[in-house]
Amino acid sequence: MVSRVIPVDPFDLVLFGATGDLARRKILPGLFHRFAVEQMPPDARVIGSARSEMDRAAFVNMARACLLEFAGPTAEDTEKLEAFLGQLDYVKVDATGDEGWAPLKDILRTDAVRAFYLSVSPSLFGAIATNLTQHGIATPESRIVVEKPFGHDLASARALNADLRKNFTERQIYRIDHYLGKETVQNLMALRFANALWEPLWNATHIDHVQITVAETVGAEGRSEYYDRSGAMRDMVQNHLMQLLCLTAMEPPSRFNPNAVRDEKVKVIEALEPVAQSDIVRGQYRALHGDDSYADHAGVPNSRTESYVAMKVNIGNWRWAGTPFYLRTGKKLRARSSEIAVVFRDPPHMIFPEMKGLKGNAMVIRLQPDEGIKLRNTIKEPGPGGFRLVEVTMDMTFADALDEDAVPQDAYERLIMDVIRGDQTLFMRGDEAEAAWAWVDPIIAAWEDAGTRPDMYDQGSSGPEDALMLLHRDGRRWREIS
Ligand code: NAP
Repeated sequence: MVSRVIPVDPFDLVLFGATGDLARRKILPGLFHRFAVEQMPPDARVIGSARSEMDRAAFVNMARACLLEFAGPTAEDTEKLEAFLGQLDYVKVDATGDEGWAPLKDILRTDAVRAFYLSVSPSLFGAIATNLTQHGIATPESRIVVEKPFGHDLASARALNADLRKNFTERQIYRIDHYLGKETVQNLMALRFANALWEPLWNATHIDHVQITVAETVGAEGRSEYYDRSGAMRDMVQNHLMQLLCLTAMEPPSRFNPNAVRDEKVKVIEALEPVAQSDIVRGQYRALHGDDSYADHAGVPNSRTESYVAMKVNIGNWRWAGTPFYLRTGKKLRARSSEIAVVFRDPPHMIFPEMKGLKGNAMVIRLQPDEGIKLRNTIKEPGPGGFRLVEVTMDMTFADALDEDAVPQDAYERLIMDVIRGDQTLFMRGDEAEAAWAWVDPIIAAWEDAGTRPDMYDQGSSGPEDALMLLHRDGRRWREIS
């Protein structure tokens, strides 16, 4: 099959925070993969930047080491690896000082797409944006990419937006949520809006409920200082789970363009009803079999930060009234698993008595560890011996039918190429980030006012017992985390 990789325009990508963890594990390997499949043109350049004193050769050595560690087998192709490294450069810049900006300006070309990727602490976003403008480096066509977290609450998100907008227009700002770069998340939009089959069923009349799960096996160790100030609600629900909810629940946009899609997502967030405290369960993992507890990892003995949250969310609009969305996310759970499960209602009239024991139709959009979309159907079990029903799963990913370029690429790769193409569809708009905080803030404020502690749960479990009750009391049950 003919390759469908379409090269992007020549670009100069300035990677602030180029010596950091995210740049080394995700961004540089992602760029290398796009180079290896010839999507990144041979005259594109990646200019690393940080405060660390190093010359180009030292940066290239650092990049070589991280590609060999994180870019997988493609990095063993020495010729390709060295060709990619030939496109790297390094300029030392202190985000908050005056040093480095003039050499950075000198190195950039005027006839290439100019993108600034801020893989640094959000406290530096404003300073970098201002310096880029004041030193004449940002042009009206340049793009600026900012990493999560986008704020800590509504006030800080507004302040970040204000800082960025002093120097860049909304059309130039790309707020990353890497969940949106996942192939399956985009496939959800294709399934919903490129087929006539699903849309008539995609509402409260036919869908009983939706479960969105993002379960991790890792704990807070390694980033505990950040995590303890954040917790699962800020770290996961406000961004990743909210984005998944929006894409599942939104109305069909009039066009597949950035503003039409994002308008519909904002409408979903604005339709979210306030969540009663009785519809939320917070958890924190405890010590088990000699493993440290959350509080040990956080280094805060009496921490009240939640490492788990489950909640029942109602969307107050015509499409979804009466169909709850159950969200849950947590650390140190039994498996690493992210999925959206859309559970359909039973047929209105049962002619097969045996059907009562079956689970019924569900569409499961799986994000990790494996990506794919599956549909659970009920059919007749083949063979003699009576009319028996059985549930089978249809794989709707069809990866095998497509060429190897269709194998999901890492979310970061996809998103960086979208930045170069100037496509903001899969990036959060400023009002979207603020709307999400406006919904999350009162929930967190209520916890703080009540001064309650999260429920404890065992590491390796599915979360606190009360989270099971959240569905049981509605006559439903969570899917297994697996
Ligand atoms: P990190 O490992 O701490 O790296 C921070 C980078 O910023 C380093 O390259 C550092 O280099 C540079 N830096 C610090 N102060 C600077 C200054 N004043 N001027 C210029 N450069 C400066 O952080 P990270 O984990 O890569 O995270 C980067 C961003 O991505 C953060 O916003 C984080 O929240 C977000 N993020 C990270 C991950 C992840 O998996 N790591 C996941 C999602 C989002 P020097 O010290 O040499 O200056």
